[in-house]
Amino acid sequence: MKIDSYDFNGKRAIIRVDFNVPLNDKFEVTDDTRIRAAIPTIKKVLEKGGSVILMSHLGRPKKNNDMKFSLEHIVSAVEQRLGVKVKFAGDCMGEKAAEMAKELKPGEVMMLENLRFYAEEEGKPRGLAEDATDEQKAEAKKAVKASQKDFVKKLASYADVYINDAFGTAHRAHASTALIADYFPNDKMFGYVMEGELKAIDGVMENPQRPFVAIIGGSKVSTKITILEKLMEKVDSLIIGGGMTYTFMAAQGGKVGNSICEPDMFPTALEILKKAEAKGVKMIFAEDALCADAFSEEANTKTCPSNDIPDGWEGLDIGEKAKKSFRDHILGCKTILWNGPVGVFEMNKFATGSKAVAEVIAEATAQGAYSLIGGGDSVACINKFGLADKVSYVSTGGGALLEYMEGKELPGVAAIRK
Ligand code: AMP
Repeated sequence: MKIDSYDFNGKRAIIRVDFNVPLNDKFEVTDDTRIRAAIPTIKKVLEKGGSVILMSHLGRPKKNNDMKFSLEHIVSAVEQRLGVKVKFAGDCMGEKAAEMAKELKPGEVMMLENLRFYAEEEGKPRGLAEDATDEQKAEAKKAVKASQKDFVKKLASYADVYINDAFGTAHRAHASTALIADYFPNDKMFGYVMEGELKAIDGVMENPQRPFVAIIGGSKVSTKITILEKLMEKVDSLIIGGGMTYTFMAAQGGKVGNSICEPDMFPTALEILKKAEAKGVKMIFAEDALCADAFSEEANTKTCPSNDIPDGWEGLDIGEKAKKSFRDHILGCKTILWNGPVGVFEMNKFATGSKAVAEVIAEATAQGAYSLIGGGDSVACINKFGLADKVSYVSTGGGALLEYMEGKELPGVAAIRK
């Protein structure tokens, strides 16, 4: 079933969106990328004569009614972007939610409360004593799994059609992302966010124009091994940036001072280098690093070779030589994938490397390359530099994007396709 061909006339659509947006201490939305991304799907249903029930999680509440995590905080941001009033149910399961859904008229929109106020959403028991026995844990798990069925059934009862548009949580087998789909065997589909994400990632992973470069940054090798190995089968070159650099340098006998480094990953790093050589994949590291004498915006800085950093100093960004060599390489590529900043971009002093990468990706895109940016931090990065509309595709998924690229079946995707 496709959203473009479905007849929504008079139907109530329950849409799993990803409104897990950052809020400031006044509970205002500080980055509404995910809200904006969901608007075309919502509008489509409304324009075709349907009504919409929005459901999402926000943050990681540990109990019901932890109002810090209430979706009420984002109602006005959604209304602003959508240009339609959004009624807030204040709950997911109560009578008010059911009543509101029943009375929904074509063209109207309502929003349920944070799904994760309920342990049933994730199907994981809560509030277990720290010294709970395995038996108690198993019992609690059984109980939450049993009540999860009622939770899913109730959510499904609000609507005639289910749309999953939350790519960011598609790698979770949760009530709203996967289990609910079974109640809509002939009336389930992806929204435009999901369709766009799958098309973009499939395009890059299955049929990339060459040369294909992946720029992988971030802090640790340990969280990126699987994706590095998978990419090795697809790309022509791999640019490694960020904190990961120093594990690779140290594994080869380099001096990395106080830089972030994972000695237990040395064998893995060496293995990755060996595999790259065997496959003919060019590995490109930052030749120099912008080093600091403290993890702080006020730190003193100096540039050092990435494999010769004195004690008391840590590499927090790439240096000028690296910026130039990354640039020259990226400009020669036709497909570019970027995941993970190449420095501690949250501090302006160490953001110039990531900014340079973002700018050259935009430049290469303008010259005809296809560029896909993904992973929470790279998205924050491209937004920080105001370049999101200068690249081909910005993915809304972090873990989901990596798992999908790693070739894993995402429960949220499988539930619609099966
Ligand atoms: P990840 O979630 O693994 O993609 O990591 C993103 C984080 O890596 C960001 O918060 C960056 O600040 C951090 N990061 C990037 N480069 C470095 C570095 N050289 N040292 C420490 N952290 C870094």
